Amino acid sequence: MNWISEWALPKIKTLFGGPREVPENLWHKCPACEQMVFHRDLERNLHVCPHCSHHMRVGARQRLDYTLDEGWQRIELPKAPQDPLRFRDQRRYVDRLREAQAKAAQEDAVVVAHGAIEGNRAVVAAFDFSFMGGSMSAGVGEALVTAARLAVLQDAPLIVFTASGGARMQEGAISLMQMPRSVIATRMVKEAGLPFIVVLCDPTTGGVTASFAMLGDIQIAEPGAMIGFAGARVIEQTVREKLPEGFQRAEYLLQHGILDMVVKRAEMRATLARLIGLLRLPERLPEPEPEAMLSLAAPGGAETPPPPAA
Ligand SMILES: [Zn+2]
Repeated sequence: MNWISEWALPKIKTLFGGPREVPENLWHKCPACEQMVFHRDLERNLHVCPHCSHHMRVGARQRLDYTLDEGWQRIELPKAPQDPLRFRDQRRYVDRLREAQAKAAQEDAVVVAHGAIEGNRAVVAAFDFSFMGGSMSAGVGEALVTAARLAVLQDAPLIVFTASGGARMQEGAISLMQMPRSVIATRMVKEAGLPFIVVLCDPTTGGVTASFAMLGDIQIAEPGAMIGFAGARVIEQTVREKLPEGFQRAEYLLQHGILDMVVKRAEMRATLARLIGLLRLPERLPEPEPEAMLSLAAPGGAETPPPPAA
């Protein structure tokens, strides 16, 4: 908030009043370089700053739009217990949850969809960091299990875009149980011989990093994404050492072998399509010719091909 939105805009509204509402967020300030970006330019650029290429956080449905071909379908998720511990701090958890649900028009922090990525069938689950910090609740666990089951059912790869602060503390131990639960869910996909691809987005921390999010067959991240378990400050205080430059950032993790690739948002769809194509290649190859099989078996093999007829 700045003085324009806090002071000047309300004044203008009172002066000119009536039905002519002043649209408030036509300009966005890049959190990295602090330049102003016009909303249409930002949308055209997939919410990547045109000045400094900072990848801004996007919601789950936007993410699905960017990733899947037109015509993707959102999956109805099974109902999860709401507020199982009847938790309250300053406010009741159930009120916070209802507020987040109304604001985001979704049940919990993960949206699951199926569709195609450049023609390759896929099931995609996307975390929404704006929904209670993308924290892992029973509902989120339910979404991941549903996505994994659907991938197996449809014989399609599972792709998960993560953005999470970790466990949802208002659900206590139930939240922690979603860690093994999500791991088991993604194992189902692997056991069915299907690719499981994780795209780590800014930020991915805590219980999500400590469970399924590090178990992808291919680990991708968006540029500049913060990925870690505990916060840098906590680590610094514990190890009593200054942490290196770029610690817990996607590029640093790539250099240290935690990630397979760092992919720009604009190239994500094509990259995922290529990976799915490569990982599922055996299916597409034609059956080998019997003669080719023989010549493959020949060198050093027990069987020798019959001599050509004279
Ligand atoms: Zn910028």
